[in-house]
Amino acid sequence: MASKAKTTVTFHSGVMTIGGTVIEVAYENAHVFFDFGTEFRPEIPLPNQDLETLLEYRLIPQLPGLYDSKLAGSQHDEENFINTAVFISHVHLDHTKMINYLDAKIPLYALDATAKILPLLNRNGTFLLPASGHENNFTRDIIGVAPQTEISVGEISVKLVPVDHDAYGACGLIITTPTAKLAYTGDLRLHGLQPENVWDFCQQAYHTDCLMIEGVSISFPERAEKSLSVCDSETELVERMARLVKNNPDRPITFNAYPANPLRFLEMAKKISRTTVLTADMAALLKELLQKDEHYYLNPGQITPSTLDPALEVAYDCLLKEPEKYFWQVTQDFENLLNNTLYIHSDAEPLGDFDPAYAKFIDLLEKLGIEFVRLSCSGHATPGDLNKIVSAIEPKLLVPIHSLHPEKLENPFGERILPVRGQKIHF
Ligand SMILES: [Zn+2]
Repeated sequence: MASKAKTTVTFHSGVMTIGGTVIEVAYENAHVFFDFGTEFRPEIPLPNQDLETLLEYRLIPQLPGLYDSKLAGSQHDEENFINTAVFISHVHLDHTKMINYLDAKIPLYALDATAKILPLLNRNGTFLLPASGHENNFTRDIIGVAPQTEISVGEISVKLVPVDHDAYGACGLIITTPTAKLAYTGDLRLHGLQPENVWDFCQQAYHTDCLMIEGVSISFPERAEKSLSVCDSETELVERMARLVKNNPDRPITFNAYPANPLRFLEMAKKISRTTVLTADMAALLKELLQKDEHYYLNPGQITPSTLDPALEVAYDCLLKEPEKYFWQVTQDFENLLNNTLYIHSDAEPLGDFDPAYAKFIDLLEKLGIEFVRLSCSGHATPGDLNKIVSAIEPKLLVPIHSLHPEKLENPFGERILPVRGQKIHF
């Protein structure tokens, strides 16, 4: 008698580390993968970012049949799957960076919002890895779908359910096969602007056979005293910025934040008492993505993006000469800033001290006499909130991933496993 078909879940990468999650769910001749980024290891000096190199340094897994066959290092699929699809939960690079290395014939799905913002973030060709045979700023086709859409891949169904994260358009996945119901959180938090999305995801994932949950916040030892630069919510963060601006009426005040979180920029523009002025690239992103008009300036030599209203341009010189009027985003030419400038670093690049560029950046500002203030708000649920999410879902099996210490998250409702790279489990 033939054995009954089973659902197989393979943890190709992104376990015991933060970033580069690639998980495969297979049932009979169909399989789906999520996500499609690379591990972020800025301390490793890579000779280049070719597919072969990333494979060699184990920043991405070998996935036969998935990568563009023109790229050295790609392997042929020996198993002959008939249906293949890839899903991305959100735009962050550790979830998307290698999508241009994916075979162009394989469909790639994401929420509409993610499908729209990703090419905008890659408009200068500096975000994603480049596709073979295309310009650097090319972004491969992404099939954008509305929230709660279910995609069928063979007998596997994948539903894209919005969550809240510091990336616009983030979702989790609810995956149903003939033998299992699985849930993947992507990255999520309860202290953002849309916590109701996370509760809805929990409800849809209730009693799942397997909850694959991110555990970024449990990666680090809990500090007895909270760092002053960390805000408990997006709302608190913008309020603290507004206070800093108010308490320093005569000083030049600048900032930078991460463009994948455009809602933070809009909140700032709304709540800060001075005129918020963005780089033309960021203003164009807000215009094209959200039809929002904000003030902007051009960096030296830059031409005005065609989507922007020239009436909203503020001359670069005015930003420097009338500093008390503006709260402006600065991403380059820090040496042009006046030496009593206050600069607020709000989850912008370089992201943190794990990146060697971070210390250099702080040194530079110190030399220039610019005061550096960090104000951040994590995109990841706190340890307490991770427990709340697990309690709301009551999973039969818990699989903490995307974490340096997944063992810190427990499952009072059933089993838990801590997979190693390449491990398969069956349902
Ligand atoms: Zn993320």
